[in-house]
Amino acid sequence: MGLVLGGCATSTDQKPTVIGTYPADECLSCEAIMPRSVPITYLILHHTAAPLPSALAILRGKDPQHKVGIHYLVSDETVPRVFKLAAEEFSTSHAGKSKWLNIKSMNQSSIGIEIVNLDGNTNVYPKEQISKIIDLSLDIVKRHQIPATNVLAHSDIAIGRKIDPGSNFPWKLLAESGVGAWPDDVDVARFKILYTQKIPSNVEIFDMLITYGYRPENAQANTIKSALDAFQRHFRTSKVNGEADAETIAILAALNFKYRKK
Ligand SMILES: [Zn+2]
Repeated sequence: MGLVLGGCATSTDQKPTVIGTYPADECLSCEAIMPRSVPITYLILHHTAAPLPSALAILRGKDPQHKVGIHYLVSDETVPRVFKLAAEEFSTSHAGKSKWLNIKSMNQSSIGIEIVNLDGNTNVYPKEQISKIIDLSLDIVKRHQIPATNVLAHSDIAIGRKIDPGSNFPWKLLAESGVGAWPDDVDVARFKILYTQKIPSNVEIFDMLITYGYRPENAQANTIKSALDAFQRHFRTSKVNGEADAETIAILAALNFKYRKK
């Protein structure tokens, strides 16, 4: 069908349009795109771990050793810009080795957003930047009807390998704005009473994590700790230590109660 991959100069219809003021004649992530084999059902958020110029250079995807791309990049400038680096109809290489529910690699089913932040676990996300991310994400989830539970952190789908967009990312605010999942306080409180009396076993926690979508390899203590670390970076950001305390497990139970009831 004449799809030309690995270079965009021959393909005008793939040329990214740009939101914001970045020069539109750049063809950024076109070196790292693939045709989609499945519909778009996920939105995955990242931090760049690099400043804007380096992030743009990396996301050109031209380094054969480090072939990455992304659909959108949100800058950390005083007035943040949203760069569209690849057309949504293509998948880009942003998730790497990843798992969620029964999906083994998340690139094909997802749209990716990179957010300029050197480390979202230590650096705050400016209000203006978050506002741009919410507007962009809302537009994406509405257009593709992406369910709340399918808006994920890179750390959710790459346990023990990735920690972005980090514990400073305001997931609760996003959920309140209509992007992503968040448990109801009343359920968390109810489950916390239960789990304060007794913390479930690692096998039980493994089952709860699996029910929600996380994919720890097994129920061994260190594996569960890694998975809970990822879980906390998204849903219990006040304390990220991988420990199965009553609050963490209560939040997990409340999420399953709200979203995974059979
Ligand atoms: Zn990432």
